[in-house]
Amino acid sequence: MKTRAVLDSFYYKNNRSLKFVVLNAVGLLALTIMLFMFSLNLSDPVPFTLGLAFLVYAFYSLGKEGGFSYGLVYCMLCILMIFSRPDTERIPYIFVLVFSGVYVLHISRFIDLIDEKERSNEIVENEIDSDMVVSDEKIKKISGAIDANKSKIENYRMLNRVAEQLLSTLDRTDMVKIISSYMPKLIGTKNVRCMLLVKNEDTDTFVETKDREDDELLVKAPAGIYKKDPFDEWLIKNKYTLFIKNVDDDFRFRNLRKDWIMFKSLIAMPLFENKRLIGILKFYSKEPEAFDNEDVRLLNYLGDISSSVVENSILYRKTEALAVQDGLTGLFIRRYFIERLDEEIKRAKQNEAAFSYLMIDIDHFKDCNDTHGHLFGDKVLKLLGEFLKDSLRDVDIIGRYGGEEFAIILPNTNMNGAKFVAERIRDSFSQLVISVNENETMKLTLSIGAVEYKKTMKLTEVMNKADKALYYSKENGRNKVSLWEEISDED
Ligand code: GH3
Ligand code: MG
Ligand code: MG
Repeated sequence: MKTRAVLDSFYYKNNRSLKFVVLNAVGLLALTIMLFMFSLNLSDPVPFTLGLAFLVYAFYSLGKEGGFSYGLVYCMLCILMIFSRPDTERIPYIFVLVFSGVYVLHISRFIDLIDEKERSNEIVENEIDSDMVVSDEKIKKISGAIDANKSKIENYRMLNRVAEQLLSTLDRTDMVKIISSYMPKLIGTKNVRCMLLVKNEDTDTFVETKDREDDELLVKAPAGIYKKDPFDEWLIKNKYTLFIKNVDDDFRFRNLRKDWIMFKSLIAMPLFENKRLIGILKFYSKEPEAFDNEDVRLLNYLGDISSSVVENSILYRKTEALAVQDGLTGLFIRRYFIERLDEEIKRAKQNEAAFSYLMIDIDHFKDCNDTHGHLFGDKVLKLLGEFLKDSLRDVDIIGRYGGEEFAIILPNTNMNGAKFVAERIRDSFSQLVISVNENETMKLTLSIGAVEYKKTMKLTEVMNKADKALYYSKENGRNKVSLWEEISDED
């Protein structure tokens, strides 16, 4: 059995290259001829039987055909040996001849068995190979699906994180910054910018919050050509996501001048609160084809999240404004106004900037109330509130200090500036004709006290000094502006 196994392992059909076969065949033939020549001169037949070992080797190294051919050669040599021997020495060679014939038949059957085994092994191997190819394809498909799902899950995780961060802010600039910071992770490292527009209900316009202050406008047309950005207008009209792969090829905007459009691809989505459009979220790039359908799907989710965040910020702004606004005049209430005065004092101290403070009181307002009624009095207070807002700069801070007393902070304004502003207010209000009813009109005057903030002053000091100046105006004929600096000089 052991020798069989050794022979088996020697029978490497696949290893048999042409070079191997030729070398072995030539070698065997040369050795056999040498053996034959050697044996011719010997009376001993034993060395010639070495050819039987060569025969076995021929089968195993050259295969069945090679073995047969060698067997034929050896048998012929055997016959030649028989005929070259005297009669008495022929017997052993006849034995060798018969033995080699039988051996060739036996070994060729054995080689057939090995060949058959190899063939069936080959079939099994081929089957295994094709099974492996199928399995490989299946594995590839499955791992592709897993990868796709992994990136989907990762994107949803990311959206969750954006949502958490967005819901924790009420500031629109922060919102845009948060969204922008997640853009590369969500849609890859495409050079995409983000812009948020929130509707101002009072003016029916959209106020934009950019990612960066220096970001360009999306459409740069000469003034007066468009009332609104044409893309915003499309969105306001159609109320669904606008996806532009390349604006140069988009038939919906074929009439626009392309050199006025500062982007190539755009995704703009409407933000709703109860079907009411409250804002627009835009993503744009200077590159065409920057977005694919998957990006649109993802960014739409972001739009849904942003809708509620924008709604929150609108509500917050409204409540915040209501909490610090006086119901009648819309001016700041006293508590909030004093907080702002405190801030202004800190700012002035830090920046060594000047500011002035005015106190205003309506003259003989009690008489006005008594004559025309309290409701009319309220109307006058509202009117004065609007008058003050219209007469002052946006940076000036106006508060309703008490019943019919108003206070004003004039940032970056010195004594002379304050006097000029106060005089202008006093003068124009005194000329204002107020209609009481269809037939009756009246005029009212204001008394004003002013003070310029000095570095050493405390908050109460500022208020007291302005109050004293106001009192001085009242004492000295009303419809008058007094500066604390001037009346204190008089003292
Ligand atoms: P003067 O300031 O010139 O000394 O005289 P005045 O009559 O205006 O006197 P004072 O400032 O003391 O009177 C304040 C009056 O303002 C009393 C009150 O009837 C009226 N007033 C205060 N708050 C309101 C308000 O909210 N609505 C109305 N209609 N009147 C108010
Ligand atoms: Mg008063
Ligand atoms: Mg008064």
